[in-house]
Amino acid sequence: MSVSVGIDLGTTFSAVAYIDPQTKLPQIVPNSEGRKLTPSVIQFLDGELIFGSEAQESYNAGEDDCVATFKREMGSDRPYCFVDGKAYTSEELSSLLLRHLKEDAEASLGDTIKEAVITVPAYFYSREREATIRAAEAAGLRVKKIIDEPNAAAMAYGLNHWRENASIMVYDLGGGTFDVTLVHMGKNGELSTITTRGNHKLGGRDWDARMEDILIAKFENETGLSIRDDHELVSIVNGMSEGVKKQLSAQNMLAAKASVSFPGYGNAVVTVTRKEFEDSTADLLDRTGALCLAVLDEAGLAIGDVTDVLLVGGSTRMPQVPAYLQKMFGKKPLSHVNPDEAVALGAAIQSSKDNESYATLAVRVVDGKKTTDRSKTGLNSHLSVKAEKKLNSLGLLSLRETTAHAMGVIAINDEENRYYNEIIIPANHPRPVRAAKRFRFYTSNKANNELAIYVLQGDSENPLDCQITYKYVVTGIKHKTGTVIKIQYSYDVNGVIHIQARQDDDTVDLPIRRENVPADISVFGQPVKSENKDQGFNVGLQLGVINTQSVVHKYKPITFSNVEWVKYDNVSDHPNGDEFDEPKVHIIANEENIEFHGYNISEMNEGVKYTISPFDDFEIECDINTSTISPHPGGYLEISLGLISAQLTENGGDILMDGVSVATVDPCFHLKMSLTKGGQYEVEIDGKTVGSKFKASTNDVDVRFGFVHGSHYCHLLSHAYVTDISMMQAVAGETDDDDSPDTEPWDD
Ligand code: AMP
Repeated sequence: MSVSVGIDLGTTFSAVAYIDPQTKLPQIVPNSEGRKLTPSVIQFLDGELIFGSEAQESYNAGEDDCVATFKREMGSDRPYCFVDGKAYTSEELSSLLLRHLKEDAEASLGDTIKEAVITVPAYFYSREREATIRAAEAAGLRVKKIIDEPNAAAMAYGLNHWRENASIMVYDLGGGTFDVTLVHMGKNGELSTITTRGNHKLGGRDWDARMEDILIAKFENETGLSIRDDHELVSIVNGMSEGVKKQLSAQNMLAAKASVSFPGYGNAVVTVTRKEFEDSTADLLDRTGALCLAVLDEAGLAIGDVTDVLLVGGSTRMPQVPAYLQKMFGKKPLSHVNPDEAVALGAAIQSSKDNESYATLAVRVVDGKKTTDRSKTGLNSHLSVKAEKKLNSLGLLSLRETTAHAMGVIAINDEENRYYNEIIIPANHPRPVRAAKRFRFYTSNKANNELAIYVLQGDSENPLDCQITYKYVVTGIKHKTGTVIKIQYSYDVNGVIHIQARQDDDTVDLPIRRENVPADISVFGQPVKSENKDQGFNVGLQLGVINTQSVVHKYKPITFSNVEWVKYDNVSDHPNGDEFDEPKVHIIANEENIEFHGYNISEMNEGVKYTISPFDDFEIECDINTSTISPHPGGYLEISLGLISAQLTENGGDILMDGVSVATVDPCFHLKMSLTKGGQYEVEIDGKTVGSKFKASTNDVDVRFGFVHGSHYCHLLSHAYVTDISMMQAVAGETDDDDSPDTEPWDD
C-alpha cells in the first residue's frame, strides 16, 4: 500500500499532511523531530545534507553552507547557489527538500508515499508550476495535482465552517509570498475561487529586512560605529531579525521591546518597540491592502460583501496584520485555522480526491476582457449567507480553481506602430480552460513554414509589464493558399500552459518546439519599426514597375466604382518622405477621390483590403511586376477578389479561380479583375480573358492586395487575420453553448 499526501512546500517552512484512515480527517504528519513544520532550509555539511532545526539554526547563525528561501526563484534556470563548485537551481534544491519531506513522512507513517498534491502560491506563473512538478518527480513523487495555497487553506477551513453563499477573502502572507484570493462557498461544498492576486516577492522576509535595518541603524546610532561593511556581523543581524520580529509578535503590548546584543562589539544592546517596527513596515501592509481592494474590484464586490477574512501564512501572526484587516473590513479576521498548517491540511483533503467536477461558467472574451454571468457564480451580494455547519464528509468538498494570470500573445496593434498583449484567456477564469484561435497564415513555398508565438502572462497591454513565459515555434506548416492555422491555448488543472496547433482541418497536431525566450526583449517595448517588420513578413508591396536605377515606385491608378467603402487605412498619417518618390495611387470609392501613397500600401500588413457588396460592379486594373520581390526571399504578392486569387512569387505563379488555375503568369503582366452582373467574376491577363465564373452569393466580398513575407511572426497575423476566438471549459466533453465557437478546442 502507499499513501497520498498533501505537501505545503513553503518558502520558509514546509509541512506534510494526510487523511487519517480512522478519523477520515486531514492530519499533519510529524517530521523525524516530532515537529509539524520542517524549515525549508538545506545545509550542505561535508558532503552530507542536513535538514530540520539543525539546518535552520546553522542558517540563523549565518553559516555559509546553508540555503533557504529558494522557492522565490522557482522556475528560473539560473543557479540559486553553488556548493563545492556545483550549481543548484531552485528546482533542484526543492527536489532535495521534497525527497527529505517524503522520506521523513514515510518513516512517520510507516508506509510508502508515491503521490502528492503540492501547493504553490496562487500567483505562481506556469514556469514556476512546471518547475514544482519536475522537482517533485525528481524526488520520486507523482504529482497528483498542484493546487493554490489559499484554496488549500480555504478547504481546510471550509470543512468545519461551511457557509453557503459566503465570500471569503483568504489573506495569505507567508515568508516569501503574498496571495489574496476571494473564494466563494457555494452549494453542496463547492468551493470556487473568484479572483486572486498576489505578489510573489513580498513576504515575511521583507519584514525581516526592515527589522535588520532598524537594528543596524540603532546600533550605529548608539555606538557611533559603522557596521554595514562588516559582512559577517550584518549576516548575524540578518539571522537575528526574524527572531526579534517574532518576539514582538509574541508580546501583546504596544511598547514591547526586544534586546539584541552584538557579538564582538561589546555589550551594545538595542531595543525596538513594536510601534517602531510597525511604522517602518506600514507601507508593506498597505501593499497587501491594495491587492485586497484590487481583488474585490475585479470581482465586482464591495468591502461590505466580504463575509469573512481568513488568515493564512506565518506572517499573519504579526499583530499588525489582523489589526490592519479589521480596520479595513470592519470585522475581526477569522483565526479558526492554524495558519501554518491549513495549507498542508487542505492539500491532504485534495489528495483524497480522484476527480472533480467543474461547473461551467458562461464566459465570453470580448476585446480581451471576460464577461461573466455573475448569477452563475453565486456572487450576487444580496444572497443571504447560510449559517455555519460542518461538512460531515470530505467527499462533499469540491474545489474549482481559477487562472491567476491572463494569458496572451504578443501582437501588433491596428496602427502597426506598437506591440501589445492580445489576451486569449482572461485572468480569473475557471481552469482547466482551453481557447482555440484561428490564424490566417501566409506561408512561403518552402516545405516547412514556422510560426513563432510569444506567450504572455499578465493583464497589462504592454508586453514588457507581463511575464513573457514561453516562446513556442510551430513547425512543419505546409504551404497552401490562405493557410489557416488553429492554435489551441490551454491552462491545465495545475495552471500550466500548453499550446497545440493544427493546420486547416487536420486532425493531427503540428510539431511545436519550445525555445528560450530571448534575453533581450526590449524590442517589444519599442515602436514597431520597419526593421522589426523585416524580421517578419511584411516587407513591402510593389505593384507596378520599378525603375532599376533608383527606388522609384510607379503605380498605375486603380479605379473602384460603386464600392461600399468599409475598411480604410490611415492614409493621411502616412509618411511621404523623400526616399519614396512615388506617384500616388488613386482609389475612387463612392465618388470620393481618396489618395493612397505607394509607401502606405507597402507598409500595410494586409495590403489593401476592401469589403464590397457582390451586387456592385467592380473592376481593378493594374500592371504587376513581382520580380521586385526577390530581395525578400519567401515573400509573395497575394491578390484576391472573391473567387479570384493568386499568390505570386518573384517568378510569377498561378492565377486561380475558385481554387483552380486559369493562367500561369510571368512576373510582369497586366491584370484586370472584375466582378459584374451581381456575381460574375472575370479575370483578364494582358488583354485576354482567361477565365470567368458566376457565383450568386449574397455574402460580402473581400478584395485584397498584399505583400506577404513567409517568415514566422504570429504577432503580425494576430490582429490582421484572426478570425475568431472561442472559449470553453474543458468539462467532460461539454461545451459552452453561449459561445458557439467556430473553432472547437480539441482534446490533448
Ligand atoms: P509560511 O511561509 O507561511 O511558513 O510563513 C513563514 C513566515 O511567517 C516567516 O517569515 C516567519 O518569520 C513568519 N512568522 C512565523 N511566525 C511568526 C510570528 N509569530 N510573528 C511574525 N512572523 C512570524
